[in-house]
Formats: sequence, C-alpha cells, structure tokens
Amino acid sequence: MFLDKEYLFTPGPTPIPDRVKIAMNQPMIGHRGAAFPVLLEDVATRLQPVFGADNPVLIISGSGTGALETAAVNVIDPGDDVVVIVGGAFGDRFAKICEAHGANVHKLEVEWGTACQPEQLEDFIKSLDANVKAVFATYCETSTSIIHPIKQLGEVTKRLTDGLFIVDGVSCIGGVPADMAGWNIDILVSGSQKALMLPPGLAFVAVSDHAKEAIQKTKNTRFYFDLNRYFDNYDQKKSTPFTPAISLIYGAQEVCNMIDEEGWENVIKRHELLKTMTREGVKALGIPLLTNDKEASPTVTAVMPKDDQANAIRKIMKDKYHISLAGGQQKLSGKIFRIGHMGYCNPYDVLTVLAALEMTIKEMENKDVLGLATKRAQEVWAEHV
Ligand SMILES: *Cc1c(COP(=O)(O)O)cnc(C)c1O
Repeated sequence: MFLDKEYLFTPGPTPIPDRVKIAMNQPMIGHRGAAFPVLLEDVATRLQPVFGADNPVLIISGSGTGALETAAVNVIDPGDDVVVIVGGAFGDRFAKICEAHGANVHKLEVEWGTACQPEQLEDFIKSLDANVKAVFATYCETSTSIIHPIKQLGEVTKRLTDGLFIVDGVSCIGGVPADMAGWNIDILVSGSQKALMLPPGLAFVAVSDHAKEAIQKTKNTRFYFDLNRYFDNYDQKKSTPFTPAISLIYGAQEVCNMIDEEGWENVIKRHELLKTMTREGVKALGIPLLTNDKEASPTVTAVMPKDDQANAIRKIMKDKYHISLAGGQQKLSGKIFRIGHMGYCNPYDVLTVLAALEMTIKEMENKDVLGLATKRAQEVWAEHV
C-alpha cells in the first residue's frame, strides 16, 4: 500500500489542499516592496467574514498560542482582575498565560466535556468582588470537543462588567459562524493549522474598535506582540512591523479563494454535516461520545470508549490503517480519542475514518460491526444532498 499517503485526522495540524501548497510555492517577495501590501490587504479583508470582524484581521507569525498571548498581553496590566473560563486544556492555557503576565486570574472551572452555561458565568462574576478587566473564553475547547455558547457568554460579560470579551477560536474559526459585533467579542484569535487548512505558523487576531482603544491604554511591557505596532503598520503601509511568513500568507489567499468558491454559508453547513456523520457513525458502533449533540463541536469529536480502550484503538488505527487520531489531554489522557473533521475535510474523509474504526473494533471485540458506522453516516449524508 502507499504508506506515504497521509490520513491525518488530528484536530490540528490538518491536511493542506494541493492548490494551497502550490500557492505557497511562489518566488519570494520583499515585504517592503509593492506586491506585499496588496497581498496582505486582500487576505486581511477577505478573512473578515470568517472572523465576523468589522476590521481587517491582523496576521502575526507564530502558532496559535502566540495569538492567545498577544490577546492577553495587550489588555492586561499586572494586578488586573480577569475571569478565565476553564473547561479543558486550552482554557487552562489561557489562564496560565494571563497569570504569566501578572493578572489576578479568577478561574471559572467548568466540568470537562460540558459547555459553560451563561448562568454559571453570571453567578461567578456576581460572586467576585472585583473590577473585571476582561473575560477570556474558548470557542471550541479542542481537548473536550465542545463549543461554548459564545454569544450568550458575551452578553453576560457586557451586562455585568465594563471589561473586554476575548475569545480563543483557534480550533473552529474557518468552520463555524462568528459575529464579533453581534456577540460582543472584543478580540477573536485563531491559528492557521486547524480549520483554516494551512500549515502551522500564522496567528490571526481580530480586534474591535473598543478593544483597540483599550490596547492603546495598556502599559504592560511587550514588543513583538505589541498590537499597536501591527495597527500602525497596517494602517499606514498595509504591512507588518516584522518580516511576515509571506509564503503562508500566499497560502491564506488561496484559502480565501476556496472559501469564496464554496460559499461561506456552505463551509459552515459542511462542518455541521461532518460532525453529524461522525457522531452518528460512532454511535452506530455502540461507542459512547464524551459530549452531548447540542454542545458538540462541528470541527472535532471526542470519543470515549469503554474500559479506557482509547489508546489501544488509536494504536491499531495508526499502525494498521495509517489513520492519525489525537488522544486525550491532561485529565482525559487515555480516556478519549479525538477525530478532527475540519478544514480540508469532506464526507468521504469521514467515511474513511469510520471504515477503519469498524475494522479496528471488529478486531478488538471480535464482533462483526463492518458497515454499521459507514452505513449510518451515509444515511446522514444522503439526507443533505
Ligand atoms: C491548537 C489550539 C491552540 C494553539 O495551539 P498552538 O499549538 O500554539 O498552535 C489554542 N487554542 C485552542 C483551542 C487550540 O485548539
């Protein structure tokens, strides 16, 4: 078999379309020349609908965590009170970043595998005797594969505080709707290697006008991640303060072309379909899922097999069928495996992963389950065409 053919189903990095690879493979240009500002402005403005942003999306070279740190360091002064919603490994990372920059962090711990309810945030903020500078939330908590109700959480934040609402959208922006103004989001960040179907290396930061003013007032020390430099360079020169990852930005332009051709609404619908096919397929094999249907992410699915079989399943999937899945993180380590279905992923890809899962379960449990998951997923797909 062609063992070099990759079946990458991790929730980042994700597969790259050939046409995006080709677009990245162009002669290098200088970022102070005439061509780069045209490229940057094109990408920054065409990403606006994907982020639901009123302003062009800023692009920084770095991984998703660089985007999280950028958001934190530009709004936090040491001693500021902030609320961080922690329902998994990435909420936990946001809290650690805020702590590293001297914030007084109030962690709202949510049971892993569930979404933060607006009432939980409301009660939590009311219980604090603090002037909350910002509330940090995760849109898709990748480690548990749930979606937090960002719109409702933004509403609570604005009603109860004068603070900013800051959202990590790394593992879902590009596959789910977003509306910064309508949902009261002040800063929405993402990375390139997940639903945006690019290699790792770009950090995206979308900023509201309100947040821009707050960022200008923040005194915290920062240099590479100082957003004021990015605003100034973009406004004056349509450029970046430091050498950008030019090849990746060419790739991002091709991603914008692909999103436009499919239609943004259809991109969102495709991710809903991939989610439902995956979940219904796994259920048809009798394997439990970590999350309920309502809170489940359209971009990644967490599967929780009985008797901690997650890593054994993952090993067979990888060794025999060359399918890469992700394991559980931190307290979910060994308890779940995760199937990424975002970005350059279509219904055939879901059928592939389900077919291999059927063969794996057949081998492990000596039960003839062939066809059960794929059939159910095909039925779901058929209802959508
Ligand atoms: C992947 C991810 C990140 C950032 O990870 P990097 O490895 O730094 O790119 C941040 N938040 C969430 C929700 C993620 O899924």
